[in-house]
Amino acid sequence: MKIYLLAPLLLVLAQTRAQKAYKAADAFAKTITAADLKTHLTIIAGAEMEGRETATPGQKKAAVYIENYFKTLGLQPGNGSSYQQYYPVYRDSFLAAEVSINGQALALNTDFTPALASPIGSLGFGEVVYVNFEDSAWKNGKVDVQGKLVLFRFQGLSGAGANAGFGNTVGVRINGLMAKGAAAALVVQDIFPLTKPFERLTNMRTNKLLNRQSMAYFNISPAWAKGILGNDWEAATEGKLPSKVYKAEVQTTYNKQRLVLESSNVLALLPGTDKADEYLVITGHYDHIGRQGDVINFGADDDGSGTVSVLELAEAFAKAKAAGKGPRRSIVFMTVSGEEKGLWGSEYYANHPVYPLEKTTANLNIDMVGRLDSLHIKRGVSKYVYVVGDDKLSSDLTPISVFANKKTKLELDPKYNDPKDRERIYFRSDHYNFAKNGVPIIFYFNGVHPDYHRPTDTVDKIEFEVMSQRAQLVFYTAWDMVNRDAMLKRDIPLPASAMGR
Ligand SMILES: [Zn+2]
Repeated sequence: MKIYLLAPLLLVLAQTRAQKAYKAADAFAKTITAADLKTHLTIIAGAEMEGRETATPGQKKAAVYIENYFKTLGLQPGNGSSYQQYYPVYRDSFLAAEVSINGQALALNTDFTPALASPIGSLGFGEVVYVNFEDSAWKNGKVDVQGKLVLFRFQGLSGAGANAGFGNTVGVRINGLMAKGAAAALVVQDIFPLTKPFERLTNMRTNKLLNRQSMAYFNISPAWAKGILGNDWEAATEGKLPSKVYKAEVQTTYNKQRLVLESSNVLALLPGTDKADEYLVITGHYDHIGRQGDVINFGADDDGSGTVSVLELAEAFAKAKAAGKGPRRSIVFMTVSGEEKGLWGSEYYANHPVYPLEKTTANLNIDMVGRLDSLHIKRGVSKYVYVVGDDKLSSDLTPISVFANKKTKLELDPKYNDPKDRERIYFRSDHYNFAKNGVPIIFYFNGVHPDYHRPTDTVDKIEFEVMSQRAQLVFYTAWDMVNRDAMLKRDIPLPASAMGR
């Protein structure tokens, strides 16, 4: 009975305490509006930005827009005299490839394609080892492929092999052959001639030199395989041909070029007052997955929504500073790139921190806050946000978050804090690069939806009202973190299970 009476009373008291604590903050929180968010997002997720793929012109246009906005707010450059923190990105570009069998040249696209991972160079072989991965001789290690050219059929994409399971990919086969010392491979594919030219660029990467090289391999058409195997070809197509050596003169050459590209994080600094050498870092990734041909993946929710939330938070705190209510700690507003490629930008920042990570009180990361997920639509709840990671690293995080939410009254959903959650959300956005270095983090997220990583993730589907409330929650949380007396405690070690990706 007592508790029954006390609970509403405590709630009222907490509300009053929040009213007081955030009295100065309210005027600036109000500058985070649905209309402003929409104005920015319409540009960031517009066609001109081409889906903002890392190291492309679209990403660079977005970077310029963000930098210019930071300048108009009067924020300082976040990286010395620059608003950009550049990092290199590498990818290989195809130059030339040749394959000849018994003196006859194969035609690119019609008869063969190179694997772009192949090393540069020329090779020549006087015989070919046909490998049947299902026969007992291979399984018992009786087939000698050391230093040899191997030929095998690949049916992972069609035909009988379609149901053979995830492990049945060319890469797995090539790795298996490399482990046995094979020098090169011809992979017989059913797909020739190609209906469109093969992709001439490898995936991007951040390491200039590879730790491990692939062996050379080339996809060839069944007609040319038949030329080597002769009458045995029929048995090979039925999977009945045992591994066996064939006489054939095969010569290959491959050449490629390493391209050095560039991407960047865009960051601005709002200096603090009496605790200016301590920092709060607020992040959102501005890159997305770009376009396929003419089809643009706009990335309005992912993560245009987080990017423009960072812009609006920057504006709110800049106005507070102009009004003499600036933060005690410095705030770094940082939109990062390379997230969709593997959290590259935030990893680069964590490895090259502009501000010491041990002086960084927390990272608040915003990635997808403009939509509703089916779980909440089903329950008829729109005023919610997933709060991720507040149970780790610092016992200060949850109370600060809950207290800030007295102002915004969202349902704070802790679902993704469950260590058994299979989505492994904690590892999947930029806060992780702060967390693994011991910096307490909170990650704000709306959950996934059917438009995730599709061209249909567009501005017209954004729920700007709830998005502005979510951004305001981040604002009140940040306000507390930058103005309290002490930096956040680091009193909860990250469990081992949260360290490996
Ligand atoms: Zn994202």
